Amino acid sequence: TLFSELKLHQWVNENIKLSGYGRSTPVQKYSIPALMDNRDLMSCAQTGSGKTAAFLVPLINHILQNGPEAFPCALVLSPTRELSLQIYNECRKFGYRTPITLAILYGGRENYQQQISKLRLGCHILIATPGRLIDVMEQGYVGLTGCRYLVIDEADRMLDMGFEPQIRQVVELSTMPEKRYRVTAMFSAMFPKEIQILAQDFLVPNYVFLA
Ligand code: AMP
Repeated sequence: TLFSELKLHQWVNENIKLSGYGRSTPVQKYSIPALMDNRDLMSCAQTGSGKTAAFLVPLINHILQNGPEAFPCALVLSPTRELSLQIYNECRKFGYRTPITLAILYGGRENYQQQISKLRLGCHILIATPGRLIDVMEQGYVGLTGCRYLVIDEADRMLDMGFEPQIRQVVELSTMPEKRYRVTAMFSAMFPKEIQILAQDFLVPNYVFLA
């Protein structure tokens, strides 16, 4: 499928072209329309499938079409600093020459102050690893009340790394809106019992499932 058939905001289309993408990958072909329709999504997608654009394109499109909402209006949870940086860089490409602002949070001492200062300027999209996010929330630097869009990337890897309590704390015990008031997309290479339970807890019952 061509991206131009997806009825995306003109700026998103232009940025997709600038990225050199002509046709959508299978995960993009099915995820993008579902998320544009505000459906919750569970997608079993491997690294290299184009899953990052599958959630970033509809997310950026949504923000451009609905105008600036609260800060942040979208949260992307990722297991590692490396993946967070990849998502951040993809996000900069698709949000190029738009008013969309980004912030990133990951562990380690060096970048702490820099990450906080950027965050305090206000961001539409926050990309974060769970531990550092909780830390920063507890310091009062960010609240999730306005977060209408939640992505959990590489959910299986997060559980392997023992992050389930942290993910649950962010999703279920913070100021994050309840699932019926947000759009939630989960990505996982595998779909074992633990991920099925997480999907049941985090997604509305009629979620779209992509194998
Ligand atoms: P991901 O699975 O999101 O990590 O993406 C894997 C790689 O494929 C990244 O380098 C993307 O920039 C690239 N990519 C994603 N979607 C497309 C597409 N539709 N056409 C060409 N390259 C793509």
